[in-house]
Amino acid sequence: MRWDDIIGHKRQIQVLRAGLEARRTPHAYLFVGEPGVGKGSVADVYTRALTCNEPDAAERPCGRCTSCRVPLDRHPDVITVTPDGSSIRIDQVRAVQRRLLFRPDLGRSLVVRIDPADALTEQAQNALLKSLEEPPAYVTFILLSHHLHALLSTIRSRCVKLRFGRVKVQDIAEALVERGYDVERAKALAALSFGRPGSLAESDAEDVLARRQRIVEWGERLLTDRCAVWYVGEAVDKERDLAQDHIDMLILWLRDVLLVRTGRQEAVTNQDLLDRLRQSARNASPSGLTEAIEALMQLKEHWNANANFRLALDVALIKAQRGLRSA
Ligand SMILES: [Zn+2]
Repeated sequence: MRWDDIIGHKRQIQVLRAGLEARRTPHAYLFVGEPGVGKGSVADVYTRALTCNEPDAAERPCGRCTSCRVPLDRHPDVITVTPDGSSIRIDQVRAVQRRLLFRPDLGRSLVVRIDPADALTEQAQNALLKSLEEPPAYVTFILLSHHLHALLSTIRSRCVKLRFGRVKVQDIAEALVERGYDVERAKALAALSFGRPGSLAESDAEDVLARRQRIVEWGERLLTDRCAVWYVGEAVDKERDLAQDHIDMLILWLRDVLLVRTGRQEAVTNQDLLDRLRQSARNASPSGLTEAIEALMQLKEHWNANANFRLALDVALIKAQRGLRSA
C-alpha cells in the first residue's frame, strides 16, 4: 500500500509527507478519528515510509527495499500493541520499552503503534509517558484513538495530533471507480459507507451490498407486513455493534423511496435499485415516509443519550411503521 492508495485525507497525508521530506518527523503522533474513517490505513503507509530504506524521502515508501517487502505484521521494527482482553496493560507497555533499547533491524526507524490508545489503562498511560518524553532518536510512536477524552492530558500534550474526519462520499465513489467498480455500484457503495472508506476494504465491499439487501427487505416489510416491527427489532437487537449503521442505511433507503415518490429520482442514492424503490413508493405517502424517517433519526439521538436500547428501538419502529402504513 502506498500514499496514492488512501481514499481522502489529503491534508493529513501532506502534513506527514512534508515531515518526512524535511527529515523532521515528530517522535509521537496521535491519530484521532472514529472507526473506519481510514486513520489505520494512513498509519500503515506512514509506518512503511518511516521504515523504508529508499534514500529519496519523497519516494518513501518505495515498496521494493528489504524493509518494504516484509509484511507489516511480521516486520521486526514495527511493534503493534493491541488490547489483551479489553485493555492494554502496564506490562505490555514495559515489554515495548525493553525493545526500544535495541536499534532497528531492517530500516531506519522503529515504529510503535498503539491501537486503540483509548484501551491503555491509566497505569499503562503513566508508564508510557516517560517513553513519549524522550524516546531514542530512531523511535516513532503512533497512537490511534477513537475518542480523545479517554487519554490523560499528559499523553495528549506529548503527541502531535492529527484529526481524521469522514471522507466525502464523492471521493470514495471516484476511488471505487478507479478500482474497477461500475459507476452506479460505486456510488451506492460510497453512500453506504457513510464517509468511512475503512468499511469498504476490498473483501468487505460485497458484505456491504449483502447487508444493504437485508435492510432493503426490512424497509419493504415495514411497508407491508404488520409483524415487521418485531422482526426488524429482533434483527437489529442481535447486532448491536452495527445498529447505528443499520439504522443509517434504513433511513437512506426510506429517503430514496421518498425521493422517488415525489418525482426526484435523479437524486436517489441506491440508483441500482430503482425498480424496487418504485415498487415501495407505490405503497407509501410522502408524509408517512417523512414521519418514519424522523422516528428513526430520533432513535439515533436516544441511543446517543444512552436510552434503553431495545425499548427505544421498538418505540421508533412502531412510530415508523405507523407512518409507513398510513398511506
Ligand atoms: Zn522501501
